[in-house]
Amino acid sequence: MNLGDDVSEIDESYDVVIVGGAIMGAMAAYFLTLDPAFHGKVAVIERDPSFTFSSTTLSAASIRQQFSIPENIRMSRFGLEFLHGAKERFGPEIELGWHEGGYLILASEAGAPVLRANHAVQQAEGADIALLDTGGLKARFEWLNVEDIALGAFGVTGEGWFDAHALLTGVRRAAKQQGAHLLTGEVTAIERAGNRVTGVTLADGRRIGCGALVNAAGPQAGRVAALAGIHLPVEGRKRCVFVVHCRTPIERLPLLVDPSGFYIRPEGAYQICGAPPPDELDINPGDDFEVDWSVFEEIIWPALAHRIPAMEELKPIRAWAGHYEMNLLDHNAVIGPHPEVANLYFLNGFSGHGLQQAPAAGRAIAEWIVHGRSVSLDLHVFGYERIAAGRPYRELNII
Ligand SMILES: Cc1cc2nc3c(=O)[nH]c(=O)nc-3n(C[C@H](O)[C@H](O)[C@H](O)COP(=O)(O)OP(=O)(O)OC[C@H]3O[C@@H](n4cnc5c(N)ncnc54)[C@H](O)[C@@H]3O)c2cc1C
Repeated sequence: MNLGDDVSEIDESYDVVIVGGAIMGAMAAYFLTLDPAFHGKVAVIERDPSFTFSSTTLSAASIRQQFSIPENIRMSRFGLEFLHGAKERFGPEIELGWHEGGYLILASEAGAPVLRANHAVQQAEGADIALLDTGGLKARFEWLNVEDIALGAFGVTGEGWFDAHALLTGVRRAAKQQGAHLLTGEVTAIERAGNRVTGVTLADGRRIGCGALVNAAGPQAGRVAALAGIHLPVEGRKRCVFVVHCRTPIERLPLLVDPSGFYIRPEGAYQICGAPPPDELDINPGDDFEVDWSVFEEIIWPALAHRIPAMEELKPIRAWAGHYEMNLLDHNAVIGPHPEVANLYFLNGFSGHGLQQAPAAGRAIAEWIVHGRSVSLDLHVFGYERIAAGRPYRELNII
């Protein structure tokens, strides 16, 4: 049966229903309800309001400007502006724990041309990134082994890390105060009348009608799109984060990204690090959140000890696993409406860099819904059209 045909069975109705209430869903609701031109009712439906398994709360919560394509840099620069302005938006009590430690992306001889080309794109966007040769690297980071390194790119300002949970709490609270309804439930069906989405059904049987639907389901986005009969190549990919302690102090440790693939950054008195698993093991994890310690022991630790010799002696403290919401086509976001099912909006596929882009992405979706296009930033390159055409728009800096 179709919601459009049988209004009597609808329990509630909203102008906009957002599936997923973590950072993307919360930002979309926040910006929608902030827009004076929007007069509708918004519901954010979240199946797990503790966010135990959400990417948002399991992330490394870092923000950079070192991307390879201008649109990603622009989105993250708005993310930075948003973090800096958080107290004005949410009140003085919000504490985002901002550390402007910078990213240091290292390249071997083979990778140096790509690092240089990316740096040119970043400079054109006004990002404060310094290119450092081995002498410059040693002068800033004396603990670094540069023997197989040709070049490094360091974010002098505007890059660092923050508290993802505090951001999520602040945005959800503000969205609620502005009138958004935060509902608990799992969307198990999406109903359509031709080329319109008309409503959703929740696991407890409730039926909710909608004028527009936003998919903000993170790693589950492909599954949620499939409920509406739409193909979206977004799947989870497990990424483990290891908390370690190095007894020797590493002065001014930034978020270092090694050519071998691992990253490490400070986290309070400790450090956190991670790396992708080997390609053949990098499959859809389903509901598997078990930590793969072999990634630390076999991939990260040997490479870490090589890059920062003081880290040969390291104490693993604990670890957790989260899921990247990987866009299998090109590792980039999908933002905007479906070209045919025009009241279905995507806020998906951020492939491991979504937290920092959530303010720009949420604002863009709100603008699409209210004004018919993304007004503040031109993000048409992230439209679903490229998915339908199988035409990738690739980001090279995936960490
Ligand atoms: C280990 C790790 C490290 C990361 N590091 C960084 C980083 O340093 N910087 C950065 O910018 N990004 C980082 N990311 C990526 C970032 O966390 C994500 O891009 C971002 O959090 C995505 O937000 P989201 O709201 O789309 O997804 P999620 O946070 O996963 O939220 C989706 C929500 O939808 C809900 N949901 C799903 N299906 C349904 C349904 N059917 N009904 C109702 N609710 C549903 C889920 O319960 C979930 O809460 C990292 C991710 C991981 C896993």
